Amino acid sequence: VCNVGEREQDNWLRTTFIQRRPSASRVFVELQFIVRDCNSFGGVSLTCKETFNLFASESDADVGTTFRKSQFKKVATIAPDEITSKSDLRINTEIRVVESLSHKGFYLAFQDIGACVALLSVRVYYKTCPAKVMSLAAFPETVAGGENQALREVNGVCVENAISEEQPRIYCTTDGEWVVPVGQCQCKPGYEEVEDACQECKPGFFKAAASGAKCEPCPANTQGLGSGALLCPCMDDFFRAPDDPPTGPCSGLPSAPRELVATTTQLSAGKLLLSWSAPEDTGGRTDITYSVECQRCEGAVCQPCGEKIRYDPASAGLTDTKVSVSELDAHLNYTFTVEAHSGVSCDVFLRNDLSFAIISFSPSTDPPKVTSMRLDERTPTSLSLSWAISPRPPAQHRPIRYELTYRKKDDNLDVTTYTVLLLEKSSVQINDLAPGTAYLFRVMALGNEGTPGGSSMEDEFETLREGMKGDNHRDLLFLLPSICLSLIIFFLFFFANAWLFLCLPEQLKPLKTYVDPHTYEDPNTAILKFASEIHPSHISKQKVIGAGEFGEVYRGILKVPGRKEVAVAIKTLKPGYSEKQRQDFLSEASIMGQFSHQNIIRLEGVVTKFKHAMIVTEYMENGALDKYLRDHDGEMTSFQLVGMLRGIAAGMKYLSDMSYVHRDLAARNILVNNNLECKVSDFGLSRVLEDDPEGTYTTSGGKIPIRWTAPEAIAYRKFTSASDVWSFGIVMWEVMAFGERPYWDMSNHEVMKAINEAFRLPAPMDCPSAVYQLMLQCWLQDRSKRPRFPDIVSLLDKLLRSPDSLKTIADFDPRVSIRLPSTSGSDGSPFRSVSEWLESIKMSQYSENFTCAGIVTMDQVLQMKNEDIKNIGVRLPGHLKRIAYSILGLKDQTSTLSVFAV
Ligand code: AMP
Repeated sequence: VCNVGEREQDNWLRTTFIQRRPSASRVFVELQFIVRDCNSFGGVSLTCKETFNLFASESDADVGTTFRKSQFKKVATIAPDEITSKSDLRINTEIRVVESLSHKGFYLAFQDIGACVALLSVRVYYKTCPAKVMSLAAFPETVAGGENQALREVNGVCVENAISEEQPRIYCTTDGEWVVPVGQCQCKPGYEEVEDACQECKPGFFKAAASGAKCEPCPANTQGLGSGALLCPCMDDFFRAPDDPPTGPCSGLPSAPRELVATTTQLSAGKLLLSWSAPEDTGGRTDITYSVECQRCEGAVCQPCGEKIRYDPASAGLTDTKVSVSELDAHLNYTFTVEAHSGVSCDVFLRNDLSFAIISFSPSTDPPKVTSMRLDERTPTSLSLSWAISPRPPAQHRPIRYELTYRKKDDNLDVTTYTVLLLEKSSVQINDLAPGTAYLFRVMALGNEGTPGGSSMEDEFETLREGMKGDNHRDLLFLLPSICLSLIIFFLFFFANAWLFLCLPEQLKPLKTYVDPHTYEDPNTAILKFASEIHPSHISKQKVIGAGEFGEVYRGILKVPGRKEVAVAIKTLKPGYSEKQRQDFLSEASIMGQFSHQNIIRLEGVVTKFKHAMIVTEYMENGALDKYLRDHDGEMTSFQLVGMLRGIAAGMKYLSDMSYVHRDLAARNILVNNNLECKVSDFGLSRVLEDDPEGTYTTSGGKIPIRWTAPEAIAYRKFTSASDVWSFGIVMWEVMAFGERPYWDMSNHEVMKAINEAFRLPAPMDCPSAVYQLMLQCWLQDRSKRPRFPDIVSLLDKLLRSPDSLKTIADFDPRVSIRLPSTSGSDGSPFRSVSEWLESIKMSQYSENFTCAGIVTMDQVLQMKNEDIKNIGVRLPGHLKRIAYSILGLKDQTSTLSVFAV
């Protein structure tokens, strides 16, 4: 349409009926159009228009061609960003939102009131949050809500083989983005997370608990089951002790103690020392102990020695490889068994014996040598041996005694058995031997006192083979290991289950999250829940210390009977408020009352039951941080400043852990107490930004403190902890620059443009390089790449722990960091007087020092060296540097000063 020369134009164009998906209450209308410049038509400017109007009308049915203007409601006036002059065509694209639709469908209409306009296309759509798997929970595609339901809560379902303690939930924003996931799923035992799914542990791997951890390889001496193993059982012949973790390695049984020796130096006193060496194979364990058992034999009949025998230090639990045995009777044969134990041995297990017999004394003579040994007879279970000696002893001598030691040749059982017999004859029949088995024999003649003879004779003999006939003792020995094994397995399962039961709840413990007071239908319920009521008579106001949007802020005293008096800040609600204002005012307390952290301003309580509502918080002697820094410019070290930042970061970490997004983090909203502790303040919902003089209305209608806000939050109100991190970067800059205004006197528009073009604030003067690097990280365009508050806290902690790390100073360009008047930029000095210059760098307090020292022209200033500045009485290092840097900047002033780049 192009009726630009005619008066009172009212031309309408209506769409066909547009059906609406029931859940889409908010639709977007994207228009492409061209508008001609009225000036390009000559003298028709009185009637010519450069805009047209968008209308909408809801309907439950298609009304065909029936059209009534009165049914349409205006959505927006559409104006072009760029108008088309005669020759060059400019196509505009504008998007408008139609909110709160509730009928089955709607019509759009366009009204022209005298423009030269061409509507090229109309695209109507709604937004959805796409189906997505997050933290192993699947969320369905969800239509984004409208003004009446800005956040749609959506429940998720854990993916297959994942479980969660808490229902996973997330919110879909009006922009079709998922935010604030709550509760997460974790893979079940035997499964691990692989690309948004739970996959069975591979064979040879296991996972015992539901957790975010990966499957681990089976530990030493265990066998991998198939896939999806919860635990790895021990390999055959390997075990776990009851107090070994079920996820740890398994160990083998110890082998036999070696080289068991009995020393008989004090035999006359019935005493003997048994000693041995540690087993060759400890089964990989260090908890080896030994026990000794004794049997007393008279002839072939053996029985336990009983309690008469004494052991030193003890008969069991020995960690040393020796024991002394006393109270032995002469003339008796004794059998001693030394057994190695470890955490995986059962009490009765495979064992070998050492027999030891004691006989009565005989006179001491040089004993003869055993010269030959002979096998006289053998059966499957016995061997008869005899031997000869040389020389033959004289007849008057007491009978010679012999010590015969024998053992199985291939004895690879866990404990080696030696049997030692003391004999009075030169022949013996040994019974109860194993069939078809080779034995090693050693025989030695003994002296009178039982002292060993000069030489001995060793030989090997084998019993006869026999069928499969076994003996009872052996059966029992073979049964024992399997009983023992079953016991171990029983204990393993018992402990594994107990462990799962005890440990799981701890691992899945959810974080505490902040509750939006708006979720309560009645805001008074929220305030009751989160804040304690104070009686106004317990509060005394002393002095006005500030002004908030709702009323004055006072310093005062809170004296609750029975409790110590405390200094407090009292926020009041001025008279004549509406109920909505009262609720907005108190919402700050509902939020603050949910927090408890050293670096978050503490709520003492509220007064809500009386006419004058009040919010009472702890008193912060040094007030707002931005003002405090400006008042103490140059007076603090980097270490102190970084310490303050660490406090703010800790407070913000706490808030982000609670899923609270601050949206207005800035030095003016940090309070400082007497100990220079910094605490985050200024909570509230809509009021946060309404209250802030830095808040600027944006095109979307919200109020945003542009200089402190991340680009995505400005562009499409994407406020997250990551946008709080951006703001924290700006706070870091404010702190390191002693309260300087970020981006100086640039307009909000210039700031946004500069940020879009990848410019960032330059390093403040004297700022440690590491601190500036962290700021730059906070200002990364891609919010997912910015550090998170826990990272920031630990980095700042690290810097504070090694103060040397603060010594490297970031490059500083005085031309951009010290604001210069707009007349500057030419060569030489742009300042007309020294005092004007000092004022521009906020150092006016030194005007007199310069005058007294006779420095009255800028030329003289330019000649000054650092020493000269000190000599005229500038003492604070921060101030010295500021003045010196400025002089440096003046000398080096060659190019324009308004651009700064990283
Ligand atoms: P607000 O409305 O929270 O921005 O408070 C306005 C001003 O009152 C602040 O800028 C501070 O100067 C002062 N103020 C607020 N709360 C406190 C407090 N807890 N301790 C000391 N001063 C405070």
